[in-house]
Amino acid sequence: MPALLRRQRTGSVVCPSCGKLVGVNDEKCLNCGRRNPGMWGFAQAFRRLGQDFGFAAVVIGGSIALYAAALLIDPAGFGRGGLFSALSPTTRSLFLLGASGAIPVFELGRWWTVLSAAWLHGGPLHLLFNVLWVRQLAPETAEAYGPARMVIIYTVSGVCGFLLSSLAGHYLLFLPRFLGGASFTVGASAPIFGLLGAIVHYGRRRGSSVVGRQALGYAVILGLFGFVMRDIDNWAHLGGFVGGYLVARWLDPWLPERVDHVVAAFACLVAAVAAIAASVLTGLPVLAQR
Ligand SMILES: [Zn+2]
Repeated sequence: MPALLRRQRTGSVVCPSCGKLVGVNDEKCLNCGRRNPGMWGFAQAFRRLGQDFGFAAVVIGGSIALYAAALLIDPAGFGRGGLFSALSPTTRSLFLLGASGAIPVFELGRWWTVLSAAWLHGGPLHLLFNVLWVRQLAPETAEAYGPARMVIIYTVSGVCGFLLSSLAGHYLLFLPRFLGGASFTVGASAPIFGLLGAIVHYGRRRGSSVVGRQALGYAVILGLFGFVMRDIDNWAHLGGFVGGYLVARWLDPWLPERVDHVVAAFACLVAAVAAIAASVLTGLPVLAQR
């Protein structure tokens, strides 16, 4: 039987909140007061799922699948322009799947797109670079914080990045273009900066700063790159980095990952899927009018 379906009926489990042993059928943890610490007998199964579940693979696979979907929804994206814009999903299809930014969030009320935009990419190079960074940084972050907390950091920092970028795009219109927020934005770079922020915090927390210094170096180089290149969402980078750093501080890498983190990580993934579904369902009528 799959691990998640194996229900434990007797004996003790590690409390999902505090990590002390509790009886699987106890109503409350005597140590921390958490209700239902045995999670109806599924706490142990959840713990195993958190360890085995390939969160990094989910992020990468999901991004690639949505990129393919964006091309198929509006095939005009296949042959656009020259070498660098070929195979680039159109604005229509990215809007439909949940692009974020000042226009979707503030003008169209699509606030949930701060959860979906990190899963979308504007072109093959954009997708390739971000997938390579996620492949590098997600396992590193998971080693420091555990795979479930990596997903929490990834999700929250993405939300912070797109929120900051949309706010800047809506309220700071007087800024020159390369300092401006985004009216329309997609890509995993906000959460990638979030993972970098989390690794920087891990380095500071441990006192041995080689890992943290390297991550900070990456963030600075990538960040500066954003001011040289055209159409890079610098506010999303900044918001992602700060958000990742702060949520990592809150999650504290000294403390072991708990089952509650696994539950929260799945809630994050469910929220992302729900945000994409909401984008499609509410976006179809909008596109039909134009
Ligand atoms: Zn407890």
